[in-house]
Amino acid sequence: MAEDPRDWEEATRAVRGGMARTPYGEISEALFLTQSFAYDSAGAADRRFSGDDPGFIYQRFGNPTTQIFEERLALIEGADVCRATASGMSAVHMALMGLLKAGDHLVAGRALFGSCRWIVSEWLPRFGVEATYVDATDLEAWKNAVRPNTKAFLVESPANPLLEITAIGAVAEIAHAAGARLVVDNVFATPIFQKPLALGADVVVYSATKHIDGQGRVLGGAILGAEQLMTESYKDLLRHTGPALSPFNAWVLLKGLETLDLRVRQQSLNAARVADAVGAHAKARKVIYCGRPDHPQAGIIANQMTGGGNVLAFDLGSQAAAWRFLDALQIVDISNNLGDAKSMATHPATTTHRSVPEAERLQIGLTDGWVRMSVGLEGAGDLVRDVSRALDAA
Ligand SMILES: *Cc1c(COP(=O)(O)O)cnc(C)c1O
Repeated sequence: MAEDPRDWEEATRAVRGGMARTPYGEISEALFLTQSFAYDSAGAADRRFSGDDPGFIYQRFGNPTTQIFEERLALIEGADVCRATASGMSAVHMALMGLLKAGDHLVAGRALFGSCRWIVSEWLPRFGVEATYVDATDLEAWKNAVRPNTKAFLVESPANPLLEITAIGAVAEIAHAAGARLVVDNVFATPIFQKPLALGADVVVYSATKHIDGQGRVLGGAILGAEQLMTESYKDLLRHTGPALSPFNAWVLLKGLETLDLRVRQQSLNAARVADAVGAHAKARKVIYCGRPDHPQAGIIANQMTGGGNVLAFDLGSQAAAWRFLDALQIVDISNNLGDAKSMATHPATTTHRSVPEAERLQIGLTDGWVRMSVGLEGAGDLVRDVSRALDAA
């Protein structure tokens, strides 16, 4: 009997999922840098456009290399369908646009990536979609925010930058009782450590720019979900509005998927070592890491995540101390990306979250002393030494 890739272990899916070889039998997936495709006859073109023949038509609708990436990520996630997008932001934007129309209402966790916040606060209102922000850790708040016209919930868990956790299954139940869909931005957890669809979410979005590339090269994104929803809500939208992923970027990202499991597990081990070193240092008032038992929501993490991930955050008490820490680092870069093989640290209040009004920043607990660190693949001993020395200097 032929192997069904859905029965494979996750590592096998990540290496071989979606593989479609050309007659040359290449081992490394082929990169099809082609915008369009030729048909054998006018009748063949007709069948292609009618959908009777499922082949490719145009890069904006689909491409063989992009399709391997989509199938591979869908297999890892356990989703029926994955649609790749040009960036994480195009994935979030399209994920919401496909579910909402004028007059609808959205409920969103208030600790959101800055650009996601802009879409919810500035962009969707132009199309008559109102939003309510809630403390995503508070189930009553989600319930109380529901209105008769609520059509979607959006949440990031763990959230940026202080790693707040939302009980995805419980929030999915609240959404479904209200007739709304739950969209989860799963970037921080990665598909290796959290499977929101299995927990009850309807749509998962990724910035593939982060761990899926993992080597700082290209932008990319993805929207995943069940077949019917992906067809009804996204097929035409993606085809006609054009946020397609470049096949070159798809190729880079699909090679990234082959090592994703290995990388994020090692990064997670390194992050745990760094978090313990930070937690033991007198200069750190507080450290938050999803793999530590003192995470405020460790109980929920145990129910829905299978690893701590590679991001931690710690409070050094003041902006001056946080900056002294960053400026004293010798190995770890000062940078705002995350999920990379190279470790990097940032001061969210003056970088990633500087556009968030101070009152809102304080609401999510993001005072000026916080540093966010994305732990990479360097030797853990070197990272602990670099971070400890920089903490001494803070
Ligand atoms: C980076 C990021 C995005 C946006 O992704 P891009 O690929 O930069 O467009 C969205 N959500 C989260 C949680 C992110 O970290």
